[in-house]
Amino acid sequence: MQTGSYINGEWYQPNSERQIRNVNPADTRDVIAEFPMASAEDTERAIDAAAEAFQGWRKTPGPERGRVIWRAADIARRRVDEIAEMMTREEGKIFKEARGEVLKGISLLEYNAGAGYRLGGKTLPSEARDTFTYTIRQPMGVVGLIAPWNFPWAIPVWKSAPALVAGNAVLLKPASLTPATAGLLAEVYEEAGIPKGVFNVVVGSGGDVGETIVNSGRIPVVSFTGSNEIGSDLYVKAASRGAKVTCEMGGKNAVIVMPDCDLDKAAVAIRDGAFGSTGQRCTATSRVIAIGDTRGELVARLEEHAKKIRVGSGLDADVDMGPAVDEGQWKTDLEYIEIGKQEGARLVTGGNAPEGLDHGYYVEPTVFDDVTPDMRIFREEIFGPVLSVAAASDLEEAIQFANSVDFGLTTSIFTQDVDKVMRFVEEVEVGMVHVNEPTIGGEAQLPFGGIKATGVGEREMSEEGVNFFTELKTVFINYSGQSGRLMIR
Ligand code: NAP
Repeated sequence: MQTGSYINGEWYQPNSERQIRNVNPADTRDVIAEFPMASAEDTERAIDAAAEAFQGWRKTPGPERGRVIWRAADIARRRVDEIAEMMTREEGKIFKEARGEVLKGISLLEYNAGAGYRLGGKTLPSEARDTFTYTIRQPMGVVGLIAPWNFPWAIPVWKSAPALVAGNAVLLKPASLTPATAGLLAEVYEEAGIPKGVFNVVVGSGGDVGETIVNSGRIPVVSFTGSNEIGSDLYVKAASRGAKVTCEMGGKNAVIVMPDCDLDKAAVAIRDGAFGSTGQRCTATSRVIAIGDTRGELVARLEEHAKKIRVGSGLDADVDMGPAVDEGQWKTDLEYIEIGKQEGARLVTGGNAPEGLDHGYYVEPTVFDDVTPDMRIFREEIFGPVLSVAAASDLEEAIQFANSVDFGLTTSIFTQDVDKVMRFVEEVEVGMVHVNEPTIGGEAQLPFGGIKATGVGEREMSEEGVNFFTELKTVFINYSGQSGRLMIR
């Protein structure tokens, strides 16, 4: 396994006292790797390499760049189990989920490979005679990608593949908790034939590597996914120096359960949304808003499901839910459970670190009932396996509760009533809505992202995700033989 940073096509161990310690959260005795952190100077060196490599890559035809990305998809498919196993070891999600994430990344690579053929602008009629007007999309230069730990493969892929196919050079800063999966992405791109310096991974702290990216006048585009604490400040800094910025941040996603729905399906979808990936998804279901008498029956089913979830190491095939990613997140989960109790919510099940799992950061799948919209567990992102159930009298009130939080990523409804579906889709304040399915999920060809405090900038994935990494240029070609423009009024 390669460790360190990957700069200008070489693996590099910075000369630094400060170490990255990559530890398995399911068993902290398993140390995956220890290596020196990159510094601000190392980051500058990566920018130098990327700026030079950009000059050749931007001239490589789009379809040819796409072919490199397609080869990366093939290589990742060959290595799917190895990548998934590393992801489970360093992030903690169960192997099946990690494998699903690698496959999702492969779809994203394939989608973006094809985009190499579609980097077109538009031809539009000019108001002037004998004038041909059109637009072209061009790469922007060295782009800075700052990624979180919770999707350590899919997010670096969904940012880097469109950036690369559009002709940019990339500097990726992965989360310090998950550098190994990012390293595997560098290996995959290298084998696929990415030229030296076009894709770089700099592993170091947010304060050094991250801040250097955010403040560098040589990086015209910054794409960030992570917490609101970091993202809102980062947005201001990068935008104030004129960079194009997108920030995808936290979520507090609700499922609205109407009395006419299929309750079995709703309960399974809520279980998967709330406890899948240990609740550590931006799209995780953390709130349920149940209408009318449905609530009692629903809570009983959720309790039953939660109690059946087997918690443990994600490398064990019998396990359904892995640990929190680190000690900090583990403590946050347990603190929010205490907050919920103090606020007067009723703890239905869970609420503790499970017994007998002493070497990892485990939390029981936890369900609270009698939660009200003013409670912190209803309003704030926990990012753990903690689900809050609240009651509403009708759809209107349910939508009002769903919209009452700062975040706006995703929301789902369970109902058979098409009028209610249409009203819900129209009124709910989020970037993505689901009907009769969990709040989670995204597809390569569909725009992904949130509104309100969740997201600023462009949507990711899809055509929008590629366009974000391009500059639009408008071209006027006058073939009239006259020096002025012949405008018809
Ligand atoms: P985080 O703490 O904000 O970190 C995200 C990235 O920012 C990491 O690479 C981090 O580096 C870096 N960073 C830290 N300080 C920085 C600074 N001053 N300047 C520049 N970069 C800096 O978030 P996280 O804990 O990794 O991820 C969890 C959060 O991500 C949750 O809130 C979740 O909802 C959100 N998320 C959102 C989406 C979405 O699409 N909306 C998707 C996934 C996750 P270090 O690791 O070195 O600190």
